[in-house]
Amino acid sequence: MKKINVAIDGTSSSGKSTMAKALAKSVGYTYIDTGAMYRSVTLYCLRNGLISDGKVDVERLVALLPKISISFKIEGGKQATYLCGENVEREIRGLEVSNCVSLVAAIAEVRHAMVRLQQEMGKDKGVVMDGRDIGTVVLPDAEIKLFVTTSPEIRAKRRFDEMRAKGDTSVTLADIIANVKMRDHLDTTRKESPLRKANDAVEVDSGQFHTAEEQIAWAVNYFHDYMQKHQ
Ligand code: C5P
Repeated sequence: MKKINVAIDGTSSSGKSTMAKALAKSVGYTYIDTGAMYRSVTLYCLRNGLISDGKVDVERLVALLPKISISFKIEGGKQATYLCGENVEREIRGLEVSNCVSLVAAIAEVRHAMVRLQQEMGKDKGVVMDGRDIGTVVLPDAEIKLFVTTSPEIRAKRRFDEMRAKGDTSVTLADIIANVKMRDHLDTTRKESPLRKANDAVEVDSGQFHTAEEQIAWAVNYFHDYMQKHQ
């Protein structure tokens, strides 16, 4: 059967990554977490002193961009993100990176470099890519485009539960609500490819699903329906 591309965009902690990852696994496609790429660049900035007082040293970062290599590997059945050869999967999910990532993701040169890499990864089809600008900028020709969101409170609670489940008790629910709202604001108001629904994307309110499994089952069904109608 001919392969297609699936673009899944939406707000942070809307459950889109869980849905995208599980959909890719279910249909045998490659999952690409573009948020992890922006998070990795942010970690690089933090480690190299390129962020201070909430400002990024754009000039130095742009000069260093060619040195920042990002890749994905499957380890123990799970996808891990590598920054310059080091597994940074855990570190890029922490609050320090979360608090700065939207600043770094707003930089045009960073976006151009990431979009180029992402387009290369999607050129042979068969990918499920999740992010903010996949349906609008990265893969505008994706056959399936979903835009997933729900209220900031529901999304923050989801991330809070995830962090607690991993044993991370360093942040409160209020911290996470603030972080989710701040990232929504930065992501939707930035000049360079802001977060917005592509005209031809299907909007999915993830608040309607009671569990992650329900949300995943919806996406898998949607995919198979599409394939049946378009083969
Ligand atoms: O998806 P995740 O929450 O991990 O993304 C982290 C941040 O990376 C987002 O808040 C957003 O600022 C940025 N991002 C982006 N474009 C993408 C994916 C993520 O700007 N395609």
